[in-house]
Amino acid sequence: MLELLREAESMDLRGIGQVLGRGFSLRCPRCGTAPLFRGPFSMYPDCLSCSLRFEREQGYFVGAIYINYAATAVTAIVGYFALDHFVGMPRTQQLITWSTFAVFFPLFFFRYSRSLWLNLEYFLNPEHSRGEQVGGPRG
Ligand SMILES: [Zn+2]
Repeated sequence: MLELLREAESMDLRGIGQVLGRGFSLRCPRCGTAPLFRGPFSMYPDCLSCSLRFEREQGYFVGAIYINYAATAVTAIVGYFALDHFVGMPRTQQLITWSTFAVFFPLFFFRYSRSLWLNLEYFLNPEHSRGEQVGGPRG
């Protein structure tokens, strides 16, 4: 019993490491080799290597917006308190700094949030991912 728990725990840790590794390297969640993006904000519809369909249904990437929002809000809040505590930055400068950050960081993090969402969803629901796209025509 204890062996099974240890094995399951190590599989989860490997899986989480894979989600983060492939997520931050902007790679396909299934094969881990092909890139997700062909431009700064445009994705390939399917994996170039294993043909996994990336956007499985309309509105699929709404979860990526939550990830992007959470990363922006948490970074801004922690950054605000860190600058306040360690640097003693005035509130006006803080407001300008974190307002600018809140505009530009989500643009920078857009690709990572989509990739993290795709990898997380594939990790949690791989059977659903396998059944949908095999052998379908492209385009
Ligand atoms: Zn792939």
